[in-house]
Amino acid sequence: MGHLQQETARRRTFAIISHPDAGKTTLTEKLLLLGGAIRTAGAVKSRKSEKFATSDWMELEKQRGISVTSSVMQFTYNDFKINILDTPGHQDFSEDTYRTLMAVDSVVMIIDVAKGVEPQTIKLFKVCRDRGIPIFTFINKLDRQGKEPLELFEEIEEVLGIESFPINYPIGMGQSFRGVYDRFQKKIEWYNENKERQTLEVESMDHLSEALKDVADESTIAQLEEDLLLIDEAGNEFDIEAVKAGKQTPVFFGSAVSSFGVPSFLEHYLQMAPTPQPRESSAGTIEPDQSSFSGFVFKIQANMNPAHRDRIAFLRICSGKFERGMTVWLDRTGKQLKLAQPQQFFADSREIIDEAFPGDIVGLYDPGFYQIGDTVCGVKDTFNYGELPQFPPEHFAKVRAKNAMKQKHFLKGVNQLAQEGAIQIYRTQYEETILGVVGQLQFDVFVYRMKAEYGVDLDMQMMPHQLAKWIVDKEEAKNLQRSSNNLVVADRDERPVIIFENEFALRWFQQKHPDVKLADSSYSL
Ligand code: GDP
Repeated sequence: MGHLQQETARRRTFAIISHPDAGKTTLTEKLLLLGGAIRTAGAVKSRKSEKFATSDWMELEKQRGISVTSSVMQFTYNDFKINILDTPGHQDFSEDTYRTLMAVDSVVMIIDVAKGVEPQTIKLFKVCRDRGIPIFTFINKLDRQGKEPLELFEEIEEVLGIESFPINYPIGMGQSFRGVYDRFQKKIEWYNENKERQTLEVESMDHLSEALKDVADESTIAQLEEDLLLIDEAGNEFDIEAVKAGKQTPVFFGSAVSSFGVPSFLEHYLQMAPTPQPRESSAGTIEPDQSSFSGFVFKIQANMNPAHRDRIAFLRICSGKFERGMTVWLDRTGKQLKLAQPQQFFADSREIIDEAFPGDIVGLYDPGFYQIGDTVCGVKDTFNYGELPQFPPEHFAKVRAKNAMKQKHFLKGVNQLAQEGAIQIYRTQYEETILGVVGQLQFDVFVYRMKAEYGVDLDMQMMPHQLAKWIVDKEEAKNLQRSSNNLVVADRDERPVIIFENEFALRWFQQKHPDVKLADSSYSL
C-alpha cells in the first residue's frame, strides 16, 4: 500500500447526531479523553462556560445554553486518525447540520435510554438514511432507569425503519448498571466500585452467570441471560454490508458521563466504520486514493478567533494529498488559489498544518473566495461534487442599522454574513434589506454578530411572510404588481424573488399568473 492509501485507510470521519441533552457533548469529550486529545474532563463541556470562550460565538451559546456552531476536532487512537464533526443540536440550525452530514462517512446517533427516539433525531436520521450513510447507535445514560433494551430496538426499527443489531448489551440499568457484555468478543466490560474499567473473558454463554457472579446481582444476571438468549434467537443477523449501506445499525450501550461502555464502543466503531468513501462528481466517481487532490467547502465561519477577525472555509478532503502552499483551482470561478495557511482543528486549539489526507477537514483562510458547496481541485481541469442542499427560508424580517451613520458597516456585515450561506438577503425596490432564515434563532445570531463583529445595532421588524420563490423569467418580474400578501424583491445576485405570506397567497398568485414560472431556489435557475 502506498502512503496515500495507508493514510486514507486509517481515517474515520463522523458526526454525532442527537436530540439536545442526549449526551453529545459528553460523549465527544470522553472520546477526546480516550485519544489523549484533552487531559481534563470538562474541557469540552465548558463550551457552555468561560474556558472555551475562544470565540464570541460562545458568548451567545452561553446565553442561550445551546450549541450554535459546528466545530471540527481531530484526534488519534490506536493509530487511527479520527475526525469528529460536531453539529448544533437545536433544530433552528438544522440546515448547518445537514450540510455537515454531507462531509462525513458515518454518523453516531445518541439516544437517551429514558427518552428513546426523539423528534430531532428522527429528522436528522432521515437525511442519513436517504444518503445511505452508515449509522452507529449509542444508547446513553444507562446509569439511569430507562426503557428496556428490547423496547428500544423495537422503537429504532419501527420509528426509524432500520434494522438494529446490539453489539453489546447492558448489564443492569440505573442503580444496578454494572457495565456491558460484548456479544462479539464474548467479553464483559465492567466497572468496579472505584469506577475502574475491568474486562473479563467469557468462554461461552453457559459461563456467563459464573463470570458475573461477583459483578452483578442474581436477578440482573438472570435478566441478562434471558434477553441475550432472545436476541440470539429472534434478533437480526449481523450484516456488515447492510451496516455500510445504512440499512442496519450496530447498537451500543453505555453511560457517557462515567465513560462506561465508551472504550468498547470506540474500538468496535473503528473496526466497522467506513474509511473515506469515493464520491460522485461531475467527472464521475472520484476515489479517495487517486493522486490528484480534491475537496469541497461545507461550511464557512467568520470571526472564529476574535483576536484576528478572520473567516475560515471548512474543506472536506475527498481525494489526494493536501499540502500547505499548494496551488488549487476553484471549480465555480476557474480561479487559481494558493492555500498558504491551512489549519487543522483539535480539541481546544487550531494549528497550521503541512499536510492532510482524504477524510480530513482543513480550515482555509477565506478573504471572500469561497462559497458553501464550492469544489476545489488540484488540477486546472476542474470538476465539482454538486450542490449542497439549501433550505428555503421560512422566516423574514426587515433590518436596518439603528444609526444611519453606520450604513456602510451595516452593508458590509450583511453581505459577508449572507455569503457564509446560512442566511439569505433580499432588497426591496426601496432599498430596504430583508433577511430570510430557516430557523428563528438565526435572527438572534445575526443581531448578535452584527453588533459583536461589525459594531452595528439593528432595528428589526418581523414580517408575516413564510415562503420565497424565485421568478424564472427576469422580464416577467417587472410587470408584477406588489399586492398586500406578496412582495417582489431581489436576491444577492439581482435575481427577482417573490415572497408570500402563506401557501394560500402562493396559490392565489399562481392562479392569477399561470404563465409566471416559479422556482424553489436560485440553483435551478
Ligand atoms: P448534548 O446537549 O447532547 O450535548 O448533551 P450533554 O452532553 O450536554 O448532556 C446533557 C446532560 O446530560 C448533562 O447534564 C450531562 O451531564 C448529562 N449526561 C450526559 N451523559 C450522561 C450519562 O451517561 N448519564 C447521566 N445520568 N447523565 C448524563
